[in-house]
Amino acid sequence: MQLLNGNEVSKHVRSQIKADVDQLKAQGKKVPHLAAILVGEDGASRTYVNAKEKDCHEVGFDSTVLRFEASITEEELLHEVEKINANPDIDGLIVQLPLPKHISTNRITQAIDWRKDVDGFHPMNVGLMFKGLPCFLPATPMGVIQLIEHYGIETSGKDCVVLGRSDIVGKPMSALMLQKNCTVTVCHSKTVNLNAYLQKADIIIAAIGIPEFVKAEMVKEGAVVIDVGITRTDDPAAKNGFRLKGDVKYDEVAPKCSWITPVPGGVGPMTRVGLLLNTLRAVKVRV
Ligand code: NAP
Repeated sequence: MQLLNGNEVSKHVRSQIKADVDQLKAQGKKVPHLAAILVGEDGASRTYVNAKEKDCHEVGFDSTVLRFEASITEEELLHEVEKINANPDIDGLIVQLPLPKHISTNRITQAIDWRKDVDGFHPMNVGLMFKGLPCFLPATPMGVIQLIEHYGIETSGKDCVVLGRSDIVGKPMSALMLQKNCTVTVCHSKTVNLNAYLQKADIIIAAIGIPEFVKAEMVKEGAVVIDVGITRTDDPAAKNGFRLKGDVKYDEVAPKCSWITPVPGGVGPMTRVGLLLNTLRAVKVRV
């Protein structure tokens, strides 16, 4: 079994991004500028936005976080998005989800100028992605593809099962694996006889958010297993009182795999660099 080490690969990609930014600076060109909109006081959302801000600073990007009370109206938030759309200094915009219930996530994400949509959630980018045309790919599936490519994992003609069909992970992931010439099966909560699909898969990409759902008996000998899932589970013995668990029961599945991602340290860090890559791309396609 070999490890698909997201920590290592992401470090390598970050240093490449930083070198690109240094070059832009040396040439007197604009450095990438990411803006994030954060609404309300959700602790996890704040942590994610802080991490994104830190990532930007580390590679030399400018970053701006716009914080709004949870009571902001949809119209007011749309107006803020429009102001950023019109601001030539800002290259990329993300709206941290979830938004408060009285605001339509679709309306807000669709209001973002798709050329600044570095999360890749705008229907324009989704459409371009499905056609295999240049676009902003959603960060997590892009990170998975980068891991696969970095380690030279063979995909052509392989049976790939994507477990989960969310708009941000499962669906785009299945489109990207199809583009890499896999025969793709997308499984979800209504799939009948899930084990039969998993057991014949050469590549499993698990993104359902159920800790340790994928067990050894569901996995073929020699399979490549990519675990997108991250769930906080209580663990009084851990320093913070919790532990992060993936969708795969790592200890028993890993010995059967040719390649596997750990959690943490697999897909998570690749997702973070995905956003940086998109922001760098945003400035490059606009100049
Ligand atoms: P989501 O929107 O909740 O979607 C979960 C998917 O799993 C749904 O399609 C659901 O099917 C399917 N599912 C649920 N129970 C199932 C079951 N028993 N059998 C088969 N399929 C089942 O989740 P998400 O946003 O895609 O995220 C999935 C996981 O990835 C979460 O743990 C999340 O924290 C993690 N994540 C990690 C990263 C990272 O950077 N590593 C990034 C994004 C997400 P239905 O459609 O039928 O309901």
